[in-house]
Amino acid sequence: MLDMLVVGGGYVGLAAAVAVKQAAPHLQVEVVEAAPAGVWEKDERASAIIAAASRMLGVLGVWDEIAANAQPINRMIVTDSRTSDPVRPVFLTFGDEVPEGQPFAHMVMNVDMVRALRGAADRLGIAIRHGVSATSFDTGSTKTTITLSDGSTIETRLLVACDGVRSKLRDLAGIRTVTWNYGQSGIVTTVAHERPHEGVAEEHFLPSGPFAILPLANNRSSLVWTERTEDADRLVASDDLVFEEELQRRFGNKLGDLRVVGSKRAYPLSLTLARAFVAPRLALAGDAAHGIHPISGQGLNLGFKDVAALAETVVEADRLGLDIGSLNVLERYQTWRRFDTFRMGVTTDVLNRLFSNDITPIRVARDFGLGLVERMPRLKSFFIDQAAGKAGDGAPKLLAGERI
Ligand SMILES: Cc1cc2nc3c(=O)[nH]c(=O)nc-3n(C[C@H](O)[C@H](O)[C@H](O)COP(=O)(O)OP(=O)(O)OC[C@H]3O[C@@H](n4cnc5c(N)ncnc54)[C@H](O)[C@@H]3O)c2cc1C
Repeated sequence: MLDMLVVGGGYVGLAAAVAVKQAAPHLQVEVVEAAPAGVWEKDERASAIIAAASRMLGVLGVWDEIAANAQPINRMIVTDSRTSDPVRPVFLTFGDEVPEGQPFAHMVMNVDMVRALRGAADRLGIAIRHGVSATSFDTGSTKTTITLSDGSTIETRLLVACDGVRSKLRDLAGIRTVTWNYGQSGIVTTVAHERPHEGVAEEHFLPSGPFAILPLANNRSSLVWTERTEDADRLVASDDLVFEEELQRRFGNKLGDLRVVGSKRAYPLSLTLARAFVAPRLALAGDAAHGIHPISGQGLNLGFKDVAALAETVVEADRLGLDIGSLNVLERYQTWRRFDTFRMGVTTDVLNRLFSNDITPIRVARDFGLGLVERMPRLKSFFIDQAAGKAGDGAPKLLAGERI
């Protein structure tokens, strides 16, 4: 029988397996991943990784490998305007608040993250079964039995569901969600540009949704461009020249000519918050527990915070001789993560609703109110604290860069 089975070998699932096994090598940990081997290695996307998450990846022994190809974000500029506005007034900047020379986030290629986490899993002896999915499970008093798509079964004391925003395990456990469909999709691609970005990330709140251009290594940037779903689908299907023209119209000429160098994909956006993060012998982590709007690039970072809290909960319970799958133990994890997640989910939701429109009274109120945001410390310090991973004195050790 295993001690912990992780279902879902994305970034969150892999990091959870590595974090627990590194701190408690005697525990038997395995990962089951539905996608065939090699699929994740083709992911062209990049993610903004906040300082707290990179500290955790450092303790897990993978950050140096990831950082070799990462681009530090030294400054972030946020503007609010119509697409046609010739000048976009800056209403919020981030960057001056972190100590000199310390980026508050990095842009990381997802493929580098997967490769490094897989390497760490291999070194720790964590078996990863590819191309099989969990189809059902049955929870008893001392173990859970999981049935896989190839008909085999696995017994474990603790089942960790990292199976993404449409989590099957969450549904099978009867955990309901609060779900809101934004009717928007996030277009993701990579562009090359003439002029250097100087490590500056920009987010423009445009009427159809936020448009972010995030710096990558080698004079390239990653786009997360939100549009109404039908427009996003049309843009993704369009010829690169048409796409580049629409892009330039939204972003302007600041970086010179922009050229699409990656594949274009549109991801439908929704808010999905699980009403519970745990059940007997089951813990949800990452998007299985919360899928949020990418307006602030925090989705995966929230997942890494789950990993830090869950690993510490499990490892400490094990050291105390407690049953790591018992609801009493798992409730500590839920208490640790639920409020922070709810707050981030609601904040991103409100920001998106406030900005994704061009209704004149709202715009006027926004311009009036948000002209003061630079001096309105609460919203800004919320995001800075999130980036730094501050969650009061009780932040999980891994986020502070300490071993469990
Ligand atoms: C447009 C966009 C931009 C984003 N940008 C950022 C950003 O800049 N920074 C950031 O922090 N976050 C960002 N995010 C969010 C981030 O991508 C997600 O939060 C993150 O991918 C969640 O990771 P995960 O491991 O929880 O889930 P997933 O990445 O969805 O992985 C789930 C895994 O589980 C597997 N699986 C599913 N069902 C089963 C099953 N039954 N059995 C076995 N395996 C199964 C799947 O094959 C998959 O590999 C963005 C999201 C979007 C849509």
